[in-house]
Amino acid sequence: MADRGLLVVLSGPSGTGKGTVIRRLLEDNPQVRLSVSATTRSPREGERHGEHYFFVSREEFEQMIREKKVLEYAEYCGRYYGTPLAPIENWRNNGNDVLLEIEVQGGAQVKEKCPDCVTIFLLPPSEAELENRLRGRGTEDEATIQKRLDAAKEELKEASRYDYNVVNTDVGETAREIMEILGREREKHNGKQG
Ligand code: 5GP
Repeated sequence: MADRGLLVVLSGPSGTGKGTVIRRLLEDNPQVRLSVSATTRSPREGERHGEHYFFVSREEFEQMIREKKVLEYAEYCGRYYGTPLAPIENWRNNGNDVLLEIEVQGGAQVKEKCPDCVTIFLLPPSEAELENRLRGRGTEDEATIQKRLDAAKEELKEASRYDYNVVNTDVGETAREIMEILGREREKHNGKQG
């Protein structure tokens, strides 16, 4: 039987480069699955329903909460975001590692419910760099950027609660570092270190 896959929480403020790091991780490691979240925010240009997010109404989201169909959820910048529960167990039982790219309130809920998860916080090289990246993306208006910068400063305070902190200076380096962490954790979880 395949070893059970890891549940991995990856957090880090908007503008840390999480998306790019995750794309690299998925490209290089076909056993890793990325959970697709549900959200009530509008799609950005190029985002597709079911691929980047399940874009749902507030009513639909609140129904998912009532029916306990989400592992965790949080309100972030006035929008709901949550992790659909159903696919996670199947993937893990098949030996796939499951990556949740979620913010810190959700990260804390997952740690509480699934203490065997591995939590990784991705840090920007500096606050200035984070602001550059957020603005450089050019997908949000000024008010949204300000909200995200404020949220980022709050989120950075939570980094110490995570099992691992990784500074994202170079995407390839960061992806390698994360895979090393997962390799070590897999050995620990499968009892190969005694
Ligand atoms: P964005 O709107 O930039 O796609 O995401 C905003 C924030 O919501 C990011 O920090 C992202 O990690 C977080 N997020 C995305 N999906 C989920 C989710 O399912 N649950 C929680 N708690 N946060 C999420």
